[in-house]
Amino acid sequence: MFLSERIKTIKPSPTLEINATSASMRQSGVDVINFGVGEPDFDTPEHIRSEAVRAIEAGYTRYTAVGGIPELKDAIIEKFRRDNNLSYKPEQVMVSCGGKHVLYNLAQATLNPGDEVIIPTPYWVSYPPIVHLAGGRPVIIKTKEADDFKLSPDALEEAITSRTRFLILNSPSNPTGSVYSRSELEALAEVILRHDVCVVSDEIYEKIIFDGTPFFSIAQVSEEAKAKTFVVNGLSKAYAMTGWRIGYVAGDREVIAGMTKVQSQSTSNPNSIAQQAAIEALNGPQDSVLTMVRAFDRRRKYIVGRLNAIPGIHCPMPAGAFYVFPNFSHYFKETHAGTKIKGSADLCEYLLREAHVALVPGIAFGDDNFIRFSYAMGLDAIKEGIDRIEEALEKLVGP
Ligand code: PMP
Ligand code: GLU
Repeated sequence: MFLSERIKTIKPSPTLEINATSASMRQSGVDVINFGVGEPDFDTPEHIRSEAVRAIEAGYTRYTAVGGIPELKDAIIEKFRRDNNLSYKPEQVMVSCGGKHVLYNLAQATLNPGDEVIIPTPYWVSYPPIVHLAGGRPVIIKTKEADDFKLSPDALEEAITSRTRFLILNSPSNPTGSVYSRSELEALAEVILRHDVCVVSDEIYEKIIFDGTPFFSIAQVSEEAKAKTFVVNGLSKAYAMTGWRIGYVAGDREVIAGMTKVQSQSTSNPNSIAQQAAIEALNGPQDSVLTMVRAFDRRRKYIVGRLNAIPGIHCPMPAGAFYVFPNFSHYFKETHAGTKIKGSADLCEYLLREAHVALVPGIAFGDDNFIRFSYAMGLDAIKEGIDRIEEALEKLVGP
């Protein structure tokens, strides 16, 4: 059969693949603990689900405006005003089938072959393939654990060429949980404003932030920074709505019109019922968000404590999102039953086989020394998972 050259260059999403492996192991009776996929374990709050039922019963079952219904755009505009002190017009806002789809539409609408997109490591797994699929070239910049995995203005300046179109920023970060401060973003914006480069600011974990850490968007730095920023957000994480597929973007109206064209020729519109529910999520009571964040916080402290108690592991306390990203290179080169563990993929495979614990290897995020744990699960499961990992690591034999 025929496959495009384009599709041959990319791999399936590793996070979703690990989730599928874990689900099929469970189906065949293996009790897998899944630290793999980043998905809240909570149900969508009741008032949001009820709104979807009401929408079905009221007949909101037809095609909608391509870029989202006006009432949802209004709710998004109000959210930006309330939470971020940012003001947008409806033509600057668009709704797609998840944050991932927003990023896909944005890349399709803006990139020409060879255009460069700067992506700091560790990056969310889908950024490079989305750029590739649009014919662009990801330019990967390494960041260091010692710098809290944050991009420095100097490293950004050095990576910019005449082909650079975008910098992708993700704060709070998947997989590290790092959160950029206002002054760090001001320093990055200063570099951006000196060049013909825009920013994609992926703010999907905005609400999942701890210890009173303030959330700040690079679009808030100045009117000039806002004009060059595409703020990407969505309902999957904050409202436990991964399956509903609602994400949104705000930015330059010409690009939004281009993205709307892409969407009109692909998915037509986001799901009509999910859009009605999304209005309720954004405009309705927000207390369930706080309840979920409090639960994530308890789990965060527990998992960080447990991981730091494992010999050779250092796990920083993340400020946001629901991931930890500890360095596991201490265990590379060790062997089990004569098989050498060469890197994060081998170690994750060993832990899945031996301990029935699913994890995502750091290599999927561009840094092989680390392993990502999603702790979006109950404390009992976290405890059991770490117990199993400890036991499996003890079976490894040093070089
Ligand atoms: N950005 C980041 C950093 C993510 O972790 C995710 C999670 N899948 C997304 C975007 C997209 O999420 P969704 O498509 O479910 O809105
Ligand atoms: N963002 C989540 C993750 O990183 C969900 C899966 C995906 O869309 O990649 O695990």
